[in-house]
Amino acid sequence: GDNVEEVEKIITAVRVRPVSDSEHASNCQVVMVPDPKEPGMCIIDPVFFSAANKDSSNRKAYEREFRCDYFFWSANKLHDVEFATQQKVFESCAKPLVGHCIAGFNCAILAYGQTGSGKTHTMMGYQSNEEGAGVIPRLCKSLIEDVTTLMTDKQHKISIEVSYYEIYNEKVHDLMSTSPEIPCRVREHPDSGAYVEGLTRVEVKTYTDVSVVLRKGDKHRAVAATLLNSTSSRSHAVFTVHLNQTLFDASDDGNVPTTSAASGVQRQSKVCLVDLAGSERASASGVSGDRLTEANNINKSLSTLGDVIQALSKVGSHLHSVPRQNSGGSHFHVPYRNSVLTWLLKDSIGGNSKTVMLATVSPTDHAFNESISTLRYVERAKLISTHATVNDTTSDAHTITMLQKQVASLQKQLSDKEQNGGETSDDTNKLEEQLLNKQQI
Ligand code: ADP
Ligand code: MG
Repeated sequence: GDNVEEVEKIITAVRVRPVSDSEHASNCQVVMVPDPKEPGMCIIDPVFFSAANKDSSNRKAYEREFRCDYFFWSANKLHDVEFATQQKVFESCAKPLVGHCIAGFNCAILAYGQTGSGKTHTMMGYQSNEEGAGVIPRLCKSLIEDVTTLMTDKQHKISIEVSYYEIYNEKVHDLMSTSPEIPCRVREHPDSGAYVEGLTRVEVKTYTDVSVVLRKGDKHRAVAATLLNSTSSRSHAVFTVHLNQTLFDASDDGNVPTTSAASGVQRQSKVCLVDLAGSERASASGVSGDRLTEANNINKSLSTLGDVIQALSKVGSHLHSVPRQNSGGSHFHVPYRNSVLTWLLKDSIGGNSKTVMLATVSPTDHAFNESISTLRYVERAKLISTHATVNDTTSDAHTITMLQKQVASLQKQLSDKEQNGGETSDDTNKLEEQLLNKQQI
């Protein structure tokens, strides 16, 4: 069919969290400086703060500038910079995905940053009050509201399902199953790509259903971490919202068709919300056995993600210089299959997807090197172009049904004409011609 395709860049965002109590206690320096005019920030090399250099006139020489599509300053209240609340973060870079998902596009938000920088706070937040809720609960709430509104005109039949799994040590654990510690198999479907075999999907109709899933998932995440002797900072948590839509043609008056569901377009899309493992290099020094395997596997998933971004950014910059038709990208090797994370997220990063890379950083000098490496990661992600297409799987079936209806109507008109006189008029010839044309399709 004529599936809609849009070319666009990965959306990048950076959020700076407040100085923590332990950072305060150890006399930290704040090295992040927001740029009030443009989305972006400067990061000051801590060398500047050593007594000899400390003169604000030469600070520029120690600054490194970074640009992104959205910059969220959540460190403290400044008079000329908007403070980014959980609501603000959601509104800016997550809410637009609700509409995209309903329109049939796959979407993803990847939270990237070192342990303790605010990934889980941003993605999940806390449930105890409404203000503290992060991107995941807010997005679910907004999607349920929009879907409920859409369902009131009878042309949409929509269900929402969620799944929640964790990748630890290159193994997938279903956080909605009764035994999350048992790894699931990852398999490859010839059309739809990699998937987790037997992954639990829970239908959610209300926000209360979502809260139940989130609470259970987080409890299971902790249980699995204990049983596997890991911590959440070493695993990637993937929360997926699946949208299944049947769209009926407006000319059907919204009546459920009597023939089959084939006369409605089936549209399946999803939003993947990913809380990645801490981006700090898991040190392989001084550890052995399980801990060494674990360190290597964390490095493997995140470094493969880096490789994928690197490869895709080459495809991306290539796209700007050549016409779209010649840019299939097949001559660039993108190593999706080198880790479970990138294999499963293939259609959410650089593939058939609208993607947000949301990086979190600490504001202080303690995290300087990690923050620089996080911001470099974001700069590379900014270069990626994605090709998002609407996932209408049965649009051909829909077209055939429409044509069959037209043929039937023409046949009826023709036989009515013949019964009412039988002479071959111009009208009848035209009808016969139209009928032949339709039947040939
Ligand atoms: P990560 O998941 O990246 O390891 P967390 O989200 O657990 O980091 O954040 C570490 C700590 O900092 C937590 O106590 C969290 O509540 C706090 N924190 C992180 N980001 C923010 C923020 N934007 N506002 C207030 N507190 C935050
Ligand atoms: Mg976390």
